[in-house]
Amino acid sequence: MITIAGAGVAGLACAWELARRGAAVTIYEMTADPSENPCSWFAGGMLAPWCEGETAEDEVVRLGAGSIAWWEQITKVERCGTLVVAPPRDRAELARFARRTQAHRQLGADDIAALEPALAGRFSQALFFEDEAHLDPRRALIDLTAAVKALGVEILYETAAPERVDVDCRGMASGLSGLRPVRGEMAIIETPDVQFNRTIRLLHPRIPLYVVPRGAGSFMIGATMIESSSWRPITVRSVLELLGAAFALHPALGEASLVETGVGLRPAFDDNVPRLTECGETTHVNGLFRHGYLLAPALAGQLARQFFQEQADEDHSQRATA
Ligand SMILES: Cc1cc2nc3c(=O)[nH]c(=O)nc-3n(C[C@H](O)[C@H](O)[C@H](O)COP(=O)(O)OP(=O)(O)OC[C@H]3O[C@@H](n4cnc5c(N)ncnc54)[C@H](O)[C@@H]3O)c2cc1C
Repeated sequence: MITIAGAGVAGLACAWELARRGAAVTIYEMTADPSENPCSWFAGGMLAPWCEGETAEDEVVRLGAGSIAWWEQITKVERCGTLVVAPPRDRAELARFARRTQAHRQLGADDIAALEPALAGRFSQALFFEDEAHLDPRRALIDLTAAVKALGVEILYETAAPERVDVDCRGMASGLSGLRPVRGEMAIIETPDVQFNRTIRLLHPRIPLYVVPRGAGSFMIGATMIESSSWRPITVRSVLELLGAAFALHPALGEASLVETGVGLRPAFDDNVPRLTECGETTHVNGLFRHGYLLAPALAGQLARQFFQEQADEDHSQRATA
């Protein structure tokens, strides 16, 4: 029996990788259901390794590349790419973004209009990251929960993990040394007047914005990266900046309804690269920062390979001494 603390995206991904290799797994989860999760519930759901390469280490791009195919085994993934645009006055930002990233192509006004008719006439240049994708993280958490249960994983909700577990995926609650909280803020807006087919990133020197379509006229907007451990609700400044940038992307978004705002504390190490950390008999899977959906599959695979290799080594040495 393998015990896991935490049923966020990391804990569930680990449970899936372990259970599908035949392990019996129990997860302890403090909250009553995925909608009470303190971080994974508020994510954008972008599976965008090459765009993230603008600021992230090469390791993030490398580990993230397999996430799209992984999630397709579990939930609906929209493989529509990412479109990156900048207002004319911030054109230099687009050139800088292109220099710092790979796997994109330059688009002109006609190509932009063909991909996203709502943006026709609004931007003359864009970068298109064709191989990227997005998912609805809430749907994904619910589908992954169902998938692990179907493999026989037991999830004990409203149950604090015991002092010793095999795998610790409690995010910021793990108390792991070197981990810091990075506040992420988001808004969900709804409008029947604008349709986007893919994630749009709007470059802006102060507040780069992304808009992820959630279907039925609903959009998740995210942007800010504030080094803070505060749980307080979203600030007025953040709402103004998020919605102002959305308005700059398309004025019709100014007429959208603001239906939800949220804040999550993303667990990050100094280099913003997640990792497995051994502490006594517990392996921590943590530090997923802004890449939980992008990188949990790779880390969970590493954990499961490590665990089964160790077990194979143990079986081998027992046979050798018998
Ligand atoms: C606004 C925002 C946008 C984001 N956008 C993206 C994106 O587009 N793409 C992407 O890949 N990532 C994105 N992320 C990042 C992603 O959401 C995080 O990296 C991820 O959620 C971290 O998951 P986790 O499982 O490590 O931690 P958590 O989601 O925090 O899960 C930890 C779990 O442990 C449980 N727990 C805590 N203490 C205990 C205990 N004592 N006993 C039992 N259980 C316990 C908690 O209840 C929780 O369910 C975004 C995050 C935010 C906030």
